[in-house]
Amino acid sequence: MEKLMALIKQTKPNLLENIGEYNHEKFLQDQADRENAEEGNLKGIDCPKCKNRGHISIVKDGELMWKMCECMGARKSLEQIEKSGLKSLLDECTFENYEATEQWQKHALSLAQNYLEYGENMWLFFGGQSGAGKTFLCTAVAGELLKRNNAVKYMMWDSESKALKSLVNDAYEYQRRMDELKSVKVLYIDDFLKVQRGQQPTPADINLAFEIINHRDVKNLRTIISTERSIDDIISLDEALGGRINRRSRGYQMNIAYDKNKNFRLRK
Ligand SMILES: [Zn+2]
Repeated sequence: MEKLMALIKQTKPNLLENIGEYNHEKFLQDQADRENAEEGNLKGIDCPKCKNRGHISIVKDGELMWKMCECMGARKSLEQIEKSGLKSLLDECTFENYEATEQWQKHALSLAQNYLEYGENMWLFFGGQSGAGKTFLCTAVAGELLKRNNAVKYMMWDSESKALKSLVNDAYEYQRRMDELKSVKVLYIDDFLKVQRGQQPTPADINLAFEIINHRDVKNLRTIISTERSIDDIISLDEALGGRINRRSRGYQMNIAYDKNKNFRLRK
């Protein structure tokens, strides 16, 4: 062996250096591969990319490093959803559990499923009569997007908007909450613009809604809206606000009319 090394040194002096370098890179890559092959123990979301370890080992600039996996955003969302007691809603409201017997229900289901598959840069809008399964289907879409590694924020309009409006003297906390609503990858707003029976949204409600909606429109961020109002109601309340939602949700919009047969009409 020694003789062989001496011979190589004599005849090909650069070869040993190359082998040395190669081995170092390869050693690190092997180490990274071994780490990446291990199963992690993070729960809640099943991520094939990191095998539920939350990070991926990579070799960069001759060093072994960790890169945070994109599933961590979705994991954080799930944690928030669990904390706010909405996890049971997410488990209950799935496409499999949706009972579609009437024609309009079948249509609502396929609209939601189409949105999930093809609505990447679009918004989903379900408006109109309560008790028609709007929240159910919107929650199913939000839950599926979460499972597909998207950070999702669930906003109950009524309570969250009241909380935000009460923060007039706490600019820091107001901004912190608003930033999250404005920038999260997927926002689901349940009961959008809901106010007490017999009342109309105030200018403060409209301003708050516009700030969130406009920012998400400009930044091209997925937004899911369920509301008892129809898109025409919202446009007549505030044209700029309703117009943005209408344009964003074209092709993925359902307005369920107020009658006992739950007729619906669509906008293409
Ligand atoms: Zn992951």
